[in-house]
Amino acid sequence: MCGIFGFVSRRELPVALVVDALRTLEYRGYDSWGIAYEVPESVGTYLAVFKQAGRLPPKLPPLPTSPIALGHTRWATHGGVTDENAHPHLDCTATLAIVHNGIIENYRPLRETLERTGHHFRSDTDSEIFAHLLEDSLERAMTESRLSESPDLLVEAVRQAFAQIRGLNAFIVLHLPSRQLVAVKSTSPLVLGIGTDGVFVSSDAVALVGHADRIYYLRDDEVALLSPDGPRLFDRCTGEPRQPQWELLTLRPADTSLGGFPHYLIKEIHEQPRVIKRILRERLEDARQLAELIQRSYGTFFVGCGTAGYAALCGSYLFSRIARRHVNAVIASEFKYQEHFLTDRSLVIALTQSGETVDVIEAVQAAKRRGATVAALVNVTGSTVARLADFTVPLSAGPEQSVLSTKAYTAKLAILLLVAHILNGSEHVGIDVLWRAIDGMEQALAPATLDRIRAVAEHLVDAEHCYVIGRGLSYPTALEAALKIKEVTYIHAEGFAGGELKHGVIALIQDGSPCLVFSPLDETRPDILSGAMEVRSRGGWIIGISPEPDEAFHVHIPIADVGDASPLVTIVPAQLLAYELAVRRGLDPDKPRNLAKSVTVK
Ligand code: GLU
Repeated sequence: MCGIFGFVSRRELPVALVVDALRTLEYRGYDSWGIAYEVPESVGTYLAVFKQAGRLPPKLPPLPTSPIALGHTRWATHGGVTDENAHPHLDCTATLAIVHNGIIENYRPLRETLERTGHHFRSDTDSEIFAHLLEDSLERAMTESRLSESPDLLVEAVRQAFAQIRGLNAFIVLHLPSRQLVAVKSTSPLVLGIGTDGVFVSSDAVALVGHADRIYYLRDDEVALLSPDGPRLFDRCTGEPRQPQWELLTLRPADTSLGGFPHYLIKEIHEQPRVIKRILRERLEDARQLAELIQRSYGTFFVGCGTAGYAALCGSYLFSRIARRHVNAVIASEFKYQEHFLTDRSLVIALTQSGETVDVIEAVQAAKRRGATVAALVNVTGSTVARLADFTVPLSAGPEQSVLSTKAYTAKLAILLLVAHILNGSEHVGIDVLWRAIDGMEQALAPATLDRIRAVAEHLVDAEHCYVIGRGLSYPTALEAALKIKEVTYIHAEGFAGGELKHGVIALIQDGSPCLVFSPLDETRPDILSGAMEVRSRGGWIIGISPEPDEAFHVHIPIADVGDASPLVTIVPAQLLAYELAVRRGLDPDKPRNLAKSVTVK
């Protein structure tokens, strides 16, 4: 899930540029970081490597300029979080540096063979294997062709080395003698960029903002050779040259900056009303086409992981009540155990912010194998899922940089709600209710609500456990609210269907146990309030998120009544509470421990 970045240029660029890019990519992993760059010297050039465990420090000693450099921010999979295991990794000759995203599944036998043939390893990672494999392939290719400086030789060597590894991987290779980078991948994302200063490559287009004007999402069957003269593309299987179709990079620095907020999480929570407005402006036609696909299908599946999985579950409730239509919401990582139902008339709708979540990709691939149609609700439009899908509805949420997903979640809900109404023949009602939701979100973000949420956060700052209940449309909200709280505050938070209380959960309640209760003005209200009262009677401290007060609540957080769009609004106070708690507990709201944003490894 790591973030990787590199540049090569005709002139020397500041190496600090790589560090800045790594800061942008840090959401992908922050166990360690590292850079490698060419140091030109009168007696010959060499590769300087600097890497260390831990987050990127806010300030670094001044770094030099260089014509070529790469960097990495790691989410460790193989090998502990140590300086040695930080990337980049070098081969034995120290003329090749590699950075890696993914897992080399056959790393054990490869390492054994390489060690037996004399390669010296400096780390415990699977990644370092690629540097040594490449060293061998390059040597072989050079002996065979006796051409030491041919650029195609390097590509040939990378193709050979890549063919020996298994798994979903992306690499950038820096080859010092030829002053070139090579990028190669299978599933894990890589984007090439060209700008006036040089050629760039990154795990995510956001890190290319300010450097590149045109970008190209590298495909799995390609290898890119980046030299000071520009990029060249080759077929990964045949080595034949290919022509990339460059597209304009439309992201602007303002899209990726904090915009005056202290953290991305709070910035992105506040962006939600604007995102829903954008969806109403830009995505109506897409929603209509998706409704048509659903209409034609025989069996619709929503698949997603984590927050997107809860959006999928909420979608199944919205479809049931608005469109009277059954859809199956499945956690993407579990989908392969249920794919047997799929036929060529099935429709699988993948929900994903990054479009790179490996479990979603696998679900999509399984669907395609069975001849099913694949649609995607995806935020990153050049992503793997977007490319695999037969039909894509972009979420239009803009870059989501906090590890916690907020605006991409409500964007998915808005699109699903719209589609449900279109299926029901009530598109205008869907549009109206989303406008009400926009107002409701703005009210939930207003200072009066924020004051109450801050007071609740003060009260809960030392809590160890927190329970969240909801019914019907609010049940997925309860799950999502609990996820937001646990991932950013490390408080153990559990979301439950209100009806499950008496089937065991209520045993957990003791004096002072905090319990968030979602109670919109829908048919769930009487039952959820009586559940809240039962928790209160056993000592629970009840925070009611509801348009109306109730005697069951110790604290009432008022929200607007927005009908079927309630999941878009009720989640906002919970997102804010998670943020306020993280800040009070001295935690980084954007980079919770052990997490990374796009889960590209299994
Ligand atoms: N497997 C590599 C490591 O542990 C890369 C991990 C990743 O891409 O998340 O260093």
